Amino acid sequence: MKNSYQIAVLPGDGIGPEILDAAVKVLDRVAELTGVSFRYVYGRIGGCAIDEDGTPLPDETLRIAKESDAVLLGAVGGPKWDQNPGHLRPETGLLGIRKGLGLFANLRPATMHPSLVEASSLKPEVVAGVDLIVVRELTGGIYFGEKKRYTVDGREVAEDQLIYNEAEIERIMRVSFEIARKRNKRLCSVDKANVLESSRLWRSVAERVANDYPDVELTHMLVDACAMQLVRAPKQFDVIVTENMFGDILSDEAAMLTGSIGMLASASLGEGSFGLYEPVHGSAPDIAGKGVANPLATILSVALMLRHSLAMDQAADAVERAVWAVLAAGHRTADIAADKSRAIGTEQMTAYVLEELAKQLEN
Ligand code: NAD
Repeated sequence: MKNSYQIAVLPGDGIGPEILDAAVKVLDRVAELTGVSFRYVYGRIGGCAIDEDGTPLPDETLRIAKESDAVLLGAVGGPKWDQNPGHLRPETGLLGIRKGLGLFANLRPATMHPSLVEASSLKPEVVAGVDLIVVRELTGGIYFGEKKRYTVDGREVAEDQLIYNEAEIERIMRVSFEIARKRNKRLCSVDKANVLESSRLWRSVAERVANDYPDVELTHMLVDACAMQLVRAPKQFDVIVTENMFGDILSDEAAMLTGSIGMLASASLGEGSFGLYEPVHGSAPDIAGKGVANPLATILSVALMLRHSLAMDQAADAVERAVWAVLAAGHRTADIAADKSRAIGTEQMTAYVLEELAKQLEN
């Protein structure tokens, strides 16, 4: 752990600035309580960058991000830019920064807080106690393979190539084993090895890397079985690692176990400890500027940043415990409130987390 870190802060559009404000307040409080200092460098991305700089990802933003220890991102997009051509769309900035920073591992935790069990569409006894994380390979597989269209005997044919090499599989496995090591030491590698050659390579590399992690239990599951088990008995999972397309689908499925978009954090990791941290939800233009956005997904993303990029595990645990304590005390923003008339706004929710954080870190 160093005693000073530079964080690139990219608020983006819609509720982005409001929720990143909350995130920075949480980091400021962590700094006060731990003596570690954070230097924030702000940059534009998405719609606001299109308006100001004529591009959704200005070079300056990528430079700032590369020079930092980690990146905190709000959200991009909104109706104002919906009709723009591809290169001038806010999400092009998002794809650009992920690629520009070489982020190859996407982490999506799904943790069920006991008092939010009713928000899930599944039975309480199935989802209570769920605490898992999906690690998705982000830069290989069928999404990046060669795509072709041609005609054979008068019929149109489409082709998508699915390629993985050993090195790509090994680095995502190492990230996943390291994460499992910090949690309950169980890693489930998901593939389709009964059908796909790329999955057979995936499985053999997983087995080989496992030799370096004797303390972590490695299991394998076919993707169709995993999709079923996630809704049938999700508590069996600790860390799931899978390739790009399977991960795209399974991470959304796992996220929905917890029921609320305003609570879901994510991390995208590159080489070393560098990472980009953002809530799973979008820019929520319908509530932007009203001060009612739920800041907890972003605050939980800060916890991921403290753990995975800044080696501040204790502070990360404290931020997560603070969020759970605030929920246990019954505080709710409108998106997760059963009684909307008693819902609190972004600032009040953040203030409760800050108060709890002091207690949790002093413990
Ligand atoms: P969204 O996630 O922005 O909103 C979906 C619904 O959830 C809305 O009703 C919104 O008010 C609510 N919601 C989302 N986050 C919330 C929060 N923190 N607190 C309370 N309520 C919250 O998805 P959408 O409406 O499909 O997309 C809106 C814009 O966001 C679009 O321009 C889309 O392209 C963009 N988007 C960006 C990202 C990203 O930046 N990573 C992801 C998804 C969508």
